[in-house]
Amino acid sequence: MGKPQQSLAIVRTVAELRAQVTAWHKAGQGVGLVPTMGALHVGHLALVGRAKELAPKVVASLFVNPTQFGPSEDFSRYPRDEAGDAAKLAGAGCDLLFAPTVEEMYPQDFASSVSPGPISERLEGKFRPGHFQGVATVVSKLLLQCQCDVAIFGEKDYQQLQVIRRVARDLDIPVRIEGLPTVREPDGLALSSRNLYLSAEERAVAPALNRGLVIAADALRDGASGAEASAKGRAHVRQAGFDPIDYLEAVDVATLEPLLKLDRPGRILAAAKLGRTRLIDNIPVEP
Ligand code: AMP
Repeated sequence: MGKPQQSLAIVRTVAELRAQVTAWHKAGQGVGLVPTMGALHVGHLALVGRAKELAPKVVASLFVNPTQFGPSEDFSRYPRDEAGDAAKLAGAGCDLLFAPTVEEMYPQDFASSVSPGPISERLEGKFRPGHFQGVATVVSKLLLQCQCDVAIFGEKDYQQLQVIRRVARDLDIPVRIEGLPTVREPDGLALSSRNLYLSAEERAVAPALNRGLVIAADALRDGASGAEASAKGRAHVRQAGFDPIDYLEAVDVATLEPLLKLDRPGRILAAAKLGRTRLIDNIPVEP
């Protein structure tokens, strides 16, 4: 006899999701939400683990959100494996999977959107116009649909996390937003569903993105300006074979405005392409 298969309840409508969450709330149980686009890896499961520490019941959502992909991006080829994802979530102790259809999320007459302001216009926002409006809109919907007490997001998408904090605060969405440090491979590469696109040669080069961030952070700590430190990091990433480098920049942790020197807590963020695959990463840097 093999191990018993763990199965996970799956709901596809907002009404079913609300009914379950309402029942949990009536029983005095708080609810944590982990929004994902699927193709789950250990990083996503760490978010579920953190959610379980913060709330007795955990909902994961799986929705590849079309409105956050640009016309030339990878929406149609984004990896999809709902059955595999559901099994992983069950194993991680998740209580419910919300996997709505595009029609459930965006009925034909859908017309409103959430525009997150200046914090969404730099860095990723500059290279992926409309991306954060898509993210802010879908995450606002998920938070309001689920009526969760806490929602967990990865620092891997650091600008996204800051955008979501801004939106939840600005729109008075009654939820606590929690960030979780990035889960990495032993060689420093941040776990990402998009790592599946990398060839064996590209996979060997990919950790150079994280190394470039570390080089920039070391330079900042050694007294270099933000511009000098970023240039050093970019040079390493370029030499490794990334092209183009959309950005590698030291910024203020909260506003994401450029950090001229290390006089307060900073974050170094990067996005660059390796072959056809665009990777992002970021690390904290403290004075
Ligand atoms: P995704 O489905 O990959 O777009 O992301 C779903 C959630 O998982 C987001 O909050 C991401 O920031 C988070 N996430 C993705 N990769 C990682 C990672 N390596 N470590 C921690 N969180 C992650």
